[in-house]
Amino acid sequence: MAKIAMKTPLVEMDGDEMTRIIWKMIKDDLVEPFVDLKTEYFDLGLENREATHDQVTVDSAEATKRLGVAVKCATITPNAARVKEYGLSQMWKSPNGTIRAMLDGTVFRAPIVVRGIEPQVRSWKRPITIARHAYGDVYRNTEMRVEGPGKAELVFTAADGTETRSLIHEFSGPGVVQGMHNLDASIESFARSCFEFALSTRQDLWFATKDTISKTYDHRFKDVFADLYEAEYRTRFEEAGITYFYTLIDDAVARVMKSEGGFIWACKNYDGDVMSDMLSSAFGSLAMMTSVLVSPHGYFEYEAAHGTVQRHYYKHLRGERTSTNSVATIFAWSGALRKRGELDGLPELADFADRLERATIDTIEGGEMTGDLARITTLPNPTTLDTEEFILAIAERLRRA
Ligand code: NAD
Repeated sequence: MAKIAMKTPLVEMDGDEMTRIIWKMIKDDLVEPFVDLKTEYFDLGLENREATHDQVTVDSAEATKRLGVAVKCATITPNAARVKEYGLSQMWKSPNGTIRAMLDGTVFRAPIVVRGIEPQVRSWKRPITIARHAYGDVYRNTEMRVEGPGKAELVFTAADGTETRSLIHEFSGPGVVQGMHNLDASIESFARSCFEFALSTRQDLWFATKDTISKTYDHRFKDVFADLYEAEYRTRFEEAGITYFYTLIDDAVARVMKSEGGFIWACKNYDGDVMSDMLSSAFGSLAMMTSVLVSPHGYFEYEAAHGTVQRHYYKHLRGERTSTNSVATIFAWSGALRKRGELDGLPELADFADRLERATIDTIEGGEMTGDLARITTLPNPTTLDTEEFILAIAERLRRA
């Protein structure tokens, strides 16, 4: 059988620990037998980040700007323990943080829905995709402990020296005070990524803030979204048959719980942080969450939402059997290949991505899965496969298809 051809290479960002092991199996067993794979390879494994003084991370992000589509393996974000374990010269920054800052993107996380892994919320039938604004608010705040009576004020000094003041509170006793900010440019690029992603996946877009209470700060978010929608997206949304819907965050939460799913939920930074964990646990498993970074400049980076599955890696190193779920990493590959197929006008490549996802879902729905899913499935008598057996079971279905 002739392999499916590619035009433009994918940017391939290899990673660490158990996901690095899975990465190679997916390429060897699920992609390369079917696709004449073209990639520009960057080794973001921690040893190579150390060896290159993290230049490899910057290079991989630059390549993504040049080529447009990347697929990334989970990577270690070093902490003190990792500095010791790997003998690092520095506590290198999170590769995801570096890449996100360079591509200026928004991360969209969506669960992979399969029969047998039922969401905790009975009405949910289709995935709910969360888009989290990744700049500012409480994550870049300045805060202060107030020890006793006194006055706290917001003071803005304009470039020409003019001061604007606003009273926060007259303290009669001890308390706390906090200042935070956001930028029109960042909110607008977040909004643009959300509108673009809604169009490219043909899903409705919801956005919510607390603008009734936060009449200037949150209201600014609401206005930036509304203005951009009217100026550039209303017609395109109407043509695509999708809607943009704004409501209060408390109303949004209530509606999400009663919805069938199948939409994108854009969240401010803190809301997205909290709601994405709520959704991934309610949909069943962190190992079934995909993640794609969409930049307003048209770059896409696909990955699994989970980490490097360290505990399984140490078992693997000890020669023990592991049963690590590769589904989200497989979907990172299929997502990237499909996007490459769409951008390069290669329907067979996009079609292969669909078949790979179908084979993965059919394997689970046919009762063969990894341990994490076998423990929570509603299917009777599931077969628990080890890491490699599961990937080979998918490969077998792909060949038969
Ligand atoms: P983790 O996602 O690797 O694991 C969290 C828990 O979920 C563990 O109990 C793990 O066994 C389970 N789990 C996760 N994915 C699984 C899978 N595919 N199959 C079976 N079980 C799975 O997160 P962690 O333990 O907090 O972090 C481990 C390492 O991953 C850290 O060094 C961290 O820096 C890194 N990390 C990387 C990314 C990324 O690159 N996007 C994200 C998160 C964590």
